[in-house]
Amino acid sequence: MTSDSIDYYTGSIEETHAAAREDVLALGEFGAWIGGEARTAADGEAFATLDPVVGEEICSVPRCTAADVDAAVDAARDAFDGEWGAYSPQERSNAILSWVDALRENVGDLALIESLDGGKPLNHALVETKYALDFLEYYGKVIQADEGITVPTDDDMHVYTRHEPYGVVGLVTPWNFPLTISFWKVGPALAAGNAAVIKPAEQTPLSLLYAAELSKGILPDGALNVVTGFGEEAGAPLTEHAGVGKVSFTGEDVTGKTVMKAAAETVKPVTLELGGKSPYVVFPDADIEEAVRDVAHGIFYNAGQSCDACSRVLVHEDVAEEFTEGLVARAEGLTPGDTLKEGTTVGPLISEDQFGKVTDYIGVGEGEGATLATGGAVDDGDLAEGWFVRPTVLTDVDNDMRVAQEEIFGPVEVVTTFESYDEAIELANDVEFGLAAGVATENATLAHRAAADIDAGSVWVNGNYATPIPGGPFGGYKQSGIGRECSRDALRHYSQEKAVHVALDDPSL
Ligand code: NAD
Repeated sequence: MTSDSIDYYTGSIEETHAAAREDVLALGEFGAWIGGEARTAADGEAFATLDPVVGEEICSVPRCTAADVDAAVDAARDAFDGEWGAYSPQERSNAILSWVDALRENVGDLALIESLDGGKPLNHALVETKYALDFLEYYGKVIQADEGITVPTDDDMHVYTRHEPYGVVGLVTPWNFPLTISFWKVGPALAAGNAAVIKPAEQTPLSLLYAAELSKGILPDGALNVVTGFGEEAGAPLTEHAGVGKVSFTGEDVTGKTVMKAAAETVKPVTLELGGKSPYVVFPDADIEEAVRDVAHGIFYNAGQSCDACSRVLVHEDVAEEFTEGLVARAEGLTPGDTLKEGTTVGPLISEDQFGKVTDYIGVGEGEGATLATGGAVDDGDLAEGWFVRPTVLTDVDNDMRVAQEEIFGPVEVVTTFESYDEAIELANDVEFGLAAGVATENATLAHRAAADIDAGSVWVNGNYATPIPGGPFGGYKQSGIGRECSRDALRHYSQEKAVHVALDDPSL
């Protein structure tokens, strides 16, 4: 697969996935990446990463524990105290941009890995991989424009600031956008001059491992390290590690709170990107066709496994019928299928656990009085072995129902109606999360007013829902997190500011 063309597979679902598995395994070593080499775990243990379409093992990867985390932190410290730490910002920029070039040359292979390990349709995986690389490139470039300040003061003082890296940073990522979220963290961490140790989610470690292998000879050994394994065994030792100066975590809110407590022991700053239950408000004057298109993309893309999915639609009662009919038709037009074949628009959920959780929630919603307008589990035919759920729409939902308050993290939209602007805003803000929101209206004043009144870190108006761009800050209000990623300001989260006060004597020769 190249950057411009996709080589779809042919044959039965078992045949396509067996062939793709073979192709992926020929690409890399997929060991833990420590000190510039692929390694097994210190105790030799490994675990399987599964293909969620057919439920079969792709390969096994090291089951890292505290001993491997120690080795990775040591390797990172050596790089920081050695070659990598001595790089100027320009040299760091050059290294990151050269790595981006190497990754772009292999973008098709990276996308194939992302598709197979994450259950993503091939064309979606290619778009996402290119998108992920845009962020790495952004940080490679923006570091060249970084600057400190000079503080105005008396003539006998010169006061200025320096931005200095923490040293070794610990990064922990989830399974829904493995490369994208990794690069949201690795990009600013490396650009700011840190060495990084990253633990990808146990469900989807492969694309980052391959990306790390492609850094060989470009980034100094130890600048980037990847430890694979489970949260308790590899994630916790990393976030607790005394040799790690800063932690950045993306995942569930409950895990995020654990990470924050662990980091508190050694007063590490944390960036947290957590869950969401983001509202999309459709006002009565909205272009309904466009709103339906945007909402459907915002909830059903990646089978709903997006932190910023618009998982609650609040629609004005005057247009509720038209909107809901359109959304149901759109949902029914999406095609769950073999992710390696052309035309598939919906992949499976990542795991059997996630499948169980999402299908349980559909039952909970019905039990609470919601109406299942369309959707539900796919439990027949070729797809029965995978963890597929059809794009699902629940109507007649009250905002206090569990399906309106809790993050389902699957392709399930809940539709609630409102009568007035104030009610819409009250409903929008009546959740513990505040990651993102959408607004559909033709009225510019209403759009800006709603964007200001909704408690969310990002608001999209009339389209492009939930696509952060390089340079645009992304992060949560309330329990959706702390800090911002994707923007220039993220460099500040990966560096500490030092004020230097220099006394100036009267000049004498
Ligand atoms: P998760 O919290 O279960 O796991 C995330 C990562 O944390 C994994 O690598 C896991 O191994 C690790 N982990 C688990 N326990 C740990 C511990 N005690 N210490 C350190 N690390 C630990 O989340 P998930 O199920 O992989 O991802 C889904 C969640 O991520 C959803 O809630 C979603 O909203 C959220 N998410 C948020 C954003 C965002 O930017 N706000 C983006 C993507 C996903």
